[in-house]
Parts: sequence; C-alpha cells; structure tokens
Amino acid sequence: MKHFFRTLSSVLTAAALLCCGCADMGAGKAVQPGAQEGNGGHGDSAGPWRYTDTAMGTVVQMTVYTERQEEAETFSGQTMELLAGLEREEISWRLDTSEVCRANESAGSAQGFPLSVELSALLSDCLELWERSEGAFDVTLGAVTRLWNIDQWAAGEALEDFSPPSEELLARALEHCGSGRLRLAEEGAAGDGGLRLYMPEGMGLDLGAVGKGLAMEKALALLADRPDVTGAVISLGGSILTYGSKTEGAPWRVGIVDPFDTSDSIGILTLEGQWCISTSGDYERYVEADGVRYHHILDPETGAPAVSDVRGVTILMKDGLLCDGLSTACYILGPEKGMDLAGQYGAEALFVMADGEIVMSEGMEQCFTEQ
Ligand code: ADP
Ligand code: MG
Repeated sequence: MKHFFRTLSSVLTAAALLCCGCADMGAGKAVQPGAQEGNGGHGDSAGPWRYTDTAMGTVVQMTVYTERQEEAETFSGQTMELLAGLEREEISWRLDTSEVCRANESAGSAQGFPLSVELSALLSDCLELWERSEGAFDVTLGAVTRLWNIDQWAAGEALEDFSPPSEELLARALEHCGSGRLRLAEEGAAGDGGLRLYMPEGMGLDLGAVGKGLAMEKALALLADRPDVTGAVISLGGSILTYGSKTEGAPWRVGIVDPFDTSDSIGILTLEGQWCISTSGDYERYVEADGVRYHHILDPETGAPAVSDVRGVTILMKDGLLCDGLSTACYILGPEKGMDLAGQYGAEALFVMADGEIVMSEGMEQCFTEQ
C-alpha cells in the first residue's frame, strides 16, 4: 500500500470550493438532488425514489432505483423494518428483547450462552479484528461505554450535567473488559452451527462499532431477494452501502465529510456497483464539558476517548461488517498501523489527520477526487 499526502492548504481550499449538489450521498448529510430526482410519496416517473427516516439512533437515507414507486416503497419499508429488528432482536444492549442483552446477562454463568449463527459469525470476526488490531478494536468494552453513556450522546439528549467518569471508575470497569477473556466454543444452540459464548462476570458486549456494518450486510441480503431493485444507495450515519447501478448507468458518487467542517466534503469517491464505505471520526459523536471534547471512540487501554492525531478514517471495501469495524480500529491505530491492518483485509483506507493532511491507500486514490 502506498501513502499519499496532501497538505492542509489543499484540503481547506478544496472545502471552500465545494460543490454540494454533485454527490449521490455524503455521510450524515441530506440527500442531494439528482438529475431526475424522484420522491417517495410524490413522484410518478421512473425514479430514483428517495426516503429519509431514523433507525439505530441515526438518520437513514435511501435512494432506490426501481421501475415503479410501489416497489421502492416496499423496499424502503422492508429496510426500515430490518433495521428496527436488528436493534430490537440482536444488537441492542439496552433492550431485553435482544440477543446481546441476554448474552450480557449470562456473563459469569458456567453454562455460557448459545449464540445464533449470525452473532457467532459476527463475534468470530470481531475477535479476529481484536487480535489483528493488537487490542485496539474491542467489542467487550460494554462496562466502560456504559460509564460514558455514549448511546445517550447518540440520541442527542441534552447532557448539561455531563462529567467524565473518574479514573478510578474507569479502572474498575476496565477489569471487566478484554476480548482475550471471552471464549467461543463449538457447542452452540441445537447443533445449528452456532457457538457458545462464555464471558466472565461483569463483562458486557457493545457492538456499537459494527452495528451499521451488520445493517449493511442485511440490506445487501434483502437486495439479493429483490431483483426489481436495480440500484440503491443506503446511508446510515457514517456508513454507506452502494448497490447495482443507476438507470442511466452513471457511477455512484459518495462524499467524504470534512472533519473540519462537517457541512462540507473533502472529496468524492466515484464507484461502480456494490461497495461499503464507513467513516469513524472524533466529530461524529461527542460531548463537551469544561472546554474539553470527549468523543465516542475509546482506547481499550485507558477506557477514555482515544488520543489520536487522526480526525477521521474512511474505509472502502465490499464487506459491511469489517468495513465498519475497521474504521473504528484504524481511527485508534493511526495511518501507519491502520493502513497495514486495512491492507490485511484487502480494504482501502483514507485518513484525515489533525493537521489537515490526507493519507490514503493506492486503491482509494484511484476513486477519490478531491473537492
Ligand atoms: P458510529 O457508531 O458513530 O458509527 P463507530 O463505528 O466508530 O462509530 O463506533 C463507535 C462505537 O463503538 C462507540 O459508540 C462504542 O459503542 C463502540 N466503541 C468505542 N470504542 C471502541 C473500541 N475501541 N472498539 C470497539 N468498539 C468501540
Ligand atoms: Mg465502526
């Protein structure tokens, strides 16, 4: 992997000259009008059909290419149901209807917890990423993320009385964390190939770093069952899925948010067909107290927001789950180790550094146009 460097001045100039109307989708931004914009509920021509809603604590935007509006509407309804179901039945650690919540309740039990096939595969991937990232990526930080109340930040609730947890509290919570302390055994539910999860008492899974990745995987599975949908772009906050093609065959154009001015993009990725694009950054979710900004990507060694000279990382690859996980891991690892990790998975990576420099892999450079 080669590294490409750009200077602060080129980034800032680019941001100032940004043409907002040219992207199909930008992470966390409103859908830009296209040449033949359709609108769910209003359009009567050939689409594309656009929908905006909320799920998983984030804004969901969809651009759907189908011949008929009813087909696009059913698809967007199915996608929203799928996202709500994913939260409710699988990954929420708050809702007692979810598998993760039940798994967390089983922590400390000698019998362990029989995981579904899907969560077995997900946790296996997360453990591998933990190993390869030398512990930077860790889905067992539940005890710590709860102390910070990160999901409350996401819900956008006022946190006037926020104060960071004390070092002592963090140290105590960290004793209950660490992927090296959980075990997956080949004896899951009813011989269906699921694994059994053993966690020590007090340990809690937090799948926040891969939730949107799993959502992209599920949306892809849904798309495979819907041949009437010939193209789609689905944006879930910092994660975007592209699929198929536009009616007129033009490539997808996905904006990468400028961490220095989140209403702008630093550039556009031009892509054909199916891709996943995930961005993690310290500007995505944070709180401020006494002039200090606390963001939501934690260093598993300290339990505190990772101290990094990276502002944001964008990963481009086919696989949704790994794409989302890698963006979090690479934020903590920084460009040198992060680029190596992304390369191990065949992923492309782009880092926006605190001094404005952009560092990207060769494959990323090929589809990136600076704004
Ligand atoms: P977002 O959820 O905004 O898309 P990320 O994908 O980067 O952002 O994931 C951040 C979330 O992952 C946090 O809100 C938290 O739930 C969880 N998390 C924080 N630090 C880590 C870490 N070091 N490893 C794994 N998960 C983490
Ligand atoms: Mg992530």
